[in-house]
Amino acid sequence: MTHSSPTQPGKARLIDGKAFAAQLREDISHRVADFKNTHGIAPGLAVILVGSDPASQVYVRNKIRQTQETGMQSFDYQLPAKTPESEVLSLIDQLNQSPDVHGILVQLPLPGHMDEHRITEAILPEKDVDGFHPVNTGRLSIGLPCLTSCTPLGCLMLLKAELGDLSGKEAVIIGRSNMVGKPMAALLLNENCTVTVTHSHTQNLAEHCRRADILVAAVGRPEMVKGHWIKPGATVIDVGINRIETASGESRLVGDVAFNDAKTVAAAMTPVPGGVGPMTIACLLHNTLEAAHRQQSVSTI
Ligand code: NDP
Repeated sequence: MTHSSPTQPGKARLIDGKAFAAQLREDISHRVADFKNTHGIAPGLAVILVGSDPASQVYVRNKIRQTQETGMQSFDYQLPAKTPESEVLSLIDQLNQSPDVHGILVQLPLPGHMDEHRITEAILPEKDVDGFHPVNTGRLSIGLPCLTSCTPLGCLMLLKAELGDLSGKEAVIIGRSNMVGKPMAALLLNENCTVTVTHSHTQNLAEHCRRADILVAAVGRPEMVKGHWIKPGATVIDVGINRIETASGESRLVGDVAFNDAKTVAAAMTPVPGGVGPMTIACLLHNTLEAAHRQQSVSTI
């Protein structure tokens, strides 16, 4: 499955994450129908949102809609910001025990009085469709089957569709967050890439980037990565989503990579928006179906 535009000299192919994600959701819908025929139930995803952060509300709405569109069952819990942590933990406990729920997601960030680690670790690893539980991150790091963090999983799918075998490629990741940078590094290492992980203390960042056949930027700094940081012919995955104000006072989304500059050097790159972003929810649905299969003891791996 390739979803990229043809190359023109001096112009990177665009890796169309939106089209790739639409195709992935369609495949998932067919597999959900098969699952229902075989097991007599739909895969179920429970989403817990605590508080009323506007960005999280939009995200959660999209997740619920796309879950339902693929034929899965959606369980939606919207709790006030002041909900005690113990109540969220007891809801997770109920969902862990429910045979109708195969995946549980607690939308981050949580209000300040809650311990994100305690909440994440309360979810059964086999229902942890965000891939944040230490059992899943540990299994990922030793190369065992697991539920993998959705955004890096989406990046890997795009990279494999674009490049095929990644073995031996020099991969540089900017950012070492638990959600993106670290699992991305583990995934690429498992694909036999030579992986460098950079962060805010890295010296000579541009030099590291210039070695990369695969450059993944997950920083959260608008257009930080310049064209001359990129190795000619590299494949660039821009995870960043940054809202900036234009000179005319309007706001627009940009990535961590200076797109117009970078596209004259890279061979292929993801745009923002329409690159990595749409893959994240598609991979959440993929993980939910995967979790449902495993809970019915029919692994698709
Ligand atoms: P975090 O803030 O958790 O991590 C940012 C990372 O970037 C840190 O490791 C930090 O280093 C590093 N960093 C910060 N400044 C620099 C610098 N000047 N040079 C090198 N490294 C630097 O962010 P996330 O990983 O959660 O997200 C990164 C971006 O991706 C954001 O824009 C976010 O919105 C976006 N995102 C997009 C998703 C999608 O679906 N497309 C999903 C998740 C995130 P240090 O560790 O030293 O502080």
